[in-house]
Amino acid sequence: MLKTLKGKISVVYLLLVVLVLVVGIISGINMYYLSKTIDGLMIDNYKSIKAVNLMNEEIENQNNAILTFIYEDRQAGIKQFNQDSSVFYNWYNVEANNITEKITEKNEGNYVDEIKNAYIDFTTSFSYLQGMPSGNKDAMLNYYNMKIKPNYDHIKELLNSLAKLNENAMFEKKTNATLDAKNSMYTILLVTLLTAIFGFIISLIFTNRFLKPMEYLIKSIREVKEGELDQVISIKTDDELGKLAIEFNNMIKRLKQYEESQLGKIIDERNKTLSIVKSINDPLLVLNSDYEIILLNSAAEELFEVEEKNAIDKHFLMSVKDEKLFEQINAIVDSKFNINKVEQIKYGDKYYDVTITPIENYKSEISDILLVFHNITEFKELEQAKDDFISIISHEFKTPLTSIMMGASMILEEKIGNINEKQKSTLIAIEEEGEKLTELVNELIELTKIESGKEMYNFKCCSIFGIVQNTVKPLYNIANEKGVNLINTVDEDMPCVYADPEKITWVLNNLITNALKYTDAGDDITISASISDNFMQISVKDTGVGIPKEYKDKIFDKFFHVNSNDEFEIKGTGLGLAVVKEIVEAHGGKVWCESDIDVGSNFMFTLPICDERG
Ligand code: ADP
Repeated sequence: MLKTLKGKISVVYLLLVVLVLVVGIISGINMYYLSKTIDGLMIDNYKSIKAVNLMNEEIENQNNAILTFIYEDRQAGIKQFNQDSSVFYNWYNVEANNITEKITEKNEGNYVDEIKNAYIDFTTSFSYLQGMPSGNKDAMLNYYNMKIKPNYDHIKELLNSLAKLNENAMFEKKTNATLDAKNSMYTILLVTLLTAIFGFIISLIFTNRFLKPMEYLIKSIREVKEGELDQVISIKTDDELGKLAIEFNNMIKRLKQYEESQLGKIIDERNKTLSIVKSINDPLLVLNSDYEIILLNSAAEELFEVEEKNAIDKHFLMSVKDEKLFEQINAIVDSKFNINKVEQIKYGDKYYDVTITPIENYKSEISDILLVFHNITEFKELEQAKDDFISIISHEFKTPLTSIMMGASMILEEKIGNINEKQKSTLIAIEEEGEKLTELVNELIELTKIESGKEMYNFKCCSIFGIVQNTVKPLYNIANEKGVNLINTVDEDMPCVYADPEKITWVLNNLITNALKYTDAGDDITISASISDNFMQISVKDTGVGIPKEYKDKIFDKFFHVNSNDEFEIKGTGLGLAVVKEIVEAHGGKVWCESDIDVGSNFMFTLPICDERG
C-alpha cells in the first residue's frame, strides 16, 4: 500500500482520521463521566429527599392519628395510624436502600438507623397509649406530651437533618459536576490542540516528502528546456513519482540520442555542403553579420592568395583587400534588400561577376552574406572583341555616313547643280535612310557602352518625383505639337528610390518617346508611381496602337520591331527597350509590358525603395 503515492496519501489521511477519532473518544468518555456525576446528583439524592419528605408527611399524619385517637375516635385513630405506618415503612425502605457511601453522606446510615429506632419507640409508645384506660384523657394527653411528642419531634428533627444532609450532598455533587465539566472542557481543548499540532506536523512532513521530489522534477524539466540534457533524476521511490522519474530519465536519454543523431545529420549535411562548396571552381566566400569570413573554398584561397586557416574568423578586408566591393556589400546589408546583387570587378587581368546574396535567419535578420565570384574573363574577352568590332564598325560607319549625308544634302540643296524632281525624291529617300542609319549607329554605340560595363552606375537615394519631372518637362512641347495629353501623376511625397538618376531619366525618356511615337492626336500618356513591397513601381501608360500579345516579351530583344501597319511605320532602331531592360535589371528591378491592340500599352518597371526620404 505504501508503494504508491495514493497509498501514502491514504495513510496520512487515515492517521488524521484516527486523531479525530481519539479526540472524539476522549470527549465521549469525559461526557460519560460528567453525565454520571449529574445522574448521581439527580437520582440518588433526589430520591432520598423525596423519601424523607414523604416520611415527614406520614409521621405528621400519624401524630394527627394519635391526637384523633386521644380526642375523637379511637378506632379511626388506630386505623389511620396503621395505614400511615405502612406508607412510612415503604418510604423508609426506599431511603434505607438508597444510602450512598460518599464521604459527605457518611452519617446517612446512622440517621436512618436512628430514625428506625425512634420510629419503633414511637409506634411502641402508641401501643402503650392504646392500653391506657380510655376514659382518662388527661393521663393519655400527659403520656402523649411526655413520651410520644418528644419522640415525634426527635423523628422530625432526624428527618430534617437527613433531608439537609442529602441537600448538602446534592450541592456538593453540583460543585463536583461543575468542576468535572470544566476539567472535561480543558481536557478536550488540550487534546484538540495537541491533535491539531500533531496533525499539522504530520501533514507538513508528508507534504514536504511528497513535494520535494516534485520540485526536483520541475527543476530538472526546466534545465532540460534550457538544453541541459545531462540530467538524471535520482528519485528512488516505488510510487508514481519514482515511475515518473524513470520515464523522465528515459525521455532525456531518447532526447539525447535524438539530438546526437540530429547533430550527426547536421554535421553530415555540413560536410556535404562543405565538399560541394570546396569543389566549386568559382571562388566563393561566406561572411557573418560582422563581415568575418566563415567559409571560403580553394578557388577563393587562390584568388585572394590567402590560406583558409589565416582567413577564417578574420574580417573580410584582411583577406580581400577590396574596399569598393566591401562598400557594395555594406550598402546591400544596410539597405536590407534581400536581393542578389551582381557587381562586376576586375582582379589582375581577370573579370568577375560578384553575386552578393544576403542570407536571412529564422528571425528574418541578415545572418550571413554569400559572395560568389564568377569568372567571366573569357566571355568578357569575347564581348570586348564584339564591342570593339561594333565600335570600330560604328565609328567607321559614322564618318562615311556623315559624308554621304552631307553630299546628299548639298545635292538636294542644288549647290552642285540643278536636279530634276525624280532625282530629288530619290535623294530625300537616301537622306531619310541615312538618318535612320545614323540613329542606329548612335544607339549601337550607347548599348555597347552599357553592356560592356563601361557605363558606371552612380547609385544613390533619389526622389522619383524629381526624376519624372525632369524627364517630362522637355517632352510637353512635342506632345502638344502632336495633340497628345502628357499627364504626370507622380506624387511629391513618394519615397526615394535607390537608383542612378541619370540612367532612370534615360529609361523614362525612352519609354515616353516610344509612347509618343505610337500615339495620335487626342490620345493620353500617363506617368504614375506606386509602392509594392519594398519596390517603387513606375508606369508609362498610353492609349495608342498597342502591341499584339505574342510580342509582349519579344519587344525587349535587340533590333525587334512589331510588324508595322499602314498607319504607323517603323520609326526606331529596335534597341531602345533592350537598353531599358539592361538598366532596370542592373538596379535590381524588372521591366514588363501590358498591352492591347487599339487600347494602348502600359510599360512598367520597378526600383528598390530607400529607407530614408530625400
Ligand atoms: P524602337 O527604337 O524601334 O522604338 P524599341 O526597343 O524602343 O525600339 O521598341 C521596340 C518595339 O516595341 C517598337 O518597334 C514598337 O514596335 C514596340 N513598342 C515600343 N513601345 C511601344 C508603344 N508605346 N506602343 C506600341 N508599341 C511599342
